[in-house]
Amino acid sequence: MVERAALEMRCTGNCTGGSNPSISAENQRYTIFFEMGKDKLCPQCKIRRFRVKNANGDAVVVTVNERKQIVPIHEGTSLDGYDLDVLYCLGCSWRGSVNNLI
Ligand SMILES: [Zn+2]
Repeated sequence: MVERAALEMRCTGNCTGGSNPSISAENQRYTIFFEMGKDKLCPQCKIRRFRVKNANGDAVVVTVNERKQIVPIHEGTSLDGYDLDVLYCLGCSWRGSVNNLI
């Protein structure tokens, strides 16, 4: 009985605590998207989404801004250990470096 009550309390705490911060994070993300109007594009299919990979085969979806900086689309994602020299296009089979983007 005691354990069950404790579990329910924890769940309630998580739900209330988690909802408010995620709403403001969502708003921030939209603001950032609007400011990123000059992202680099794939030279083949002209989309702005790419993947970078690490030695484990994990991939992170990124965009590349006009200063050729690689930016994860999910805010707070770490690019530590990822090979930023090769970008893999999400829309076609193109791959290459940021210098090959248009
Ligand atoms: Zn492409």
